[in-house]
Amino acid sequence: MKRNLTFFKRRRLNIDIGHRCALECPNCQRQRQFVRQGKKVPGYDMTMDEFYKITSFFKSINFSGQLSDPVHHPKFIEILEYCYKNKIEAIVHNASSLKPHHWYIKAFKANPLAKWVFGIDGLPEQSHIYRINQDGKKLYDLMVESKKYLKRLPVWQYLVFNYNEHNIEEAQEMARRDGVTFMILQSSRWNSENDPLRPSKKYDMSKK
Ligand code: SF4
Repeated sequence: MKRNLTFFKRRRLNIDIGHRCALECPNCQRQRQFVRQGKKVPGYDMTMDEFYKITSFFKSINFSGQLSDPVHHPKFIEILEYCYKNKIEAIVHNASSLKPHHWYIKAFKANPLAKWVFGIDGLPEQSHIYRINQDGKKLYDLMVESKKYLKRLPVWQYLVFNYNEHNIEEAQEMARRDGVTFMILQSSRWNSENDPLRPSKKYDMSKK
């Protein structure tokens, strides 16, 4: 029997490289499985040696935010630079806006080929309704400014919630005006059918 090697041939990896995040998105597993149960969020900052080992095999890294935000890894700029110098694709998912402006500029310059995906769920001034603690305006301005340094267009990732479902067209227009890619996503992290953040039937794709 011929073995299917597709899984073993994959060279893209989706990882959390740390355990920190400054946001408190209510449906994130940080809150649901740990913080609200009085438990410490598990994990640690991946070491550079571990990162070198991983990238000796995987050539495209999705720095994802399942349980943390990659910008809070203390060596994230060094990691970005390493990816750039070693031709490893870097895809960065960022929603936490705590890092200062100068840190972002340094990060963009460290790897101009990185693809940045900014999680801003709604118009910048309302995104914090789900992304608790986020300064949506600051992150939006950084996303637009990143175009000066990045060779790939940044992505505005917009999760649809009941508080932002009527602003999708306005957001699309802003994205067009400011020259960033707009990506709408449907969340699957609902607490129940009656989760107060759920979009109305018209905008809830799981109901289609
Ligand atoms: S930004 Fe990501 S890791 Fe942080 S709380 Fe929100 S969903 Fe969780």
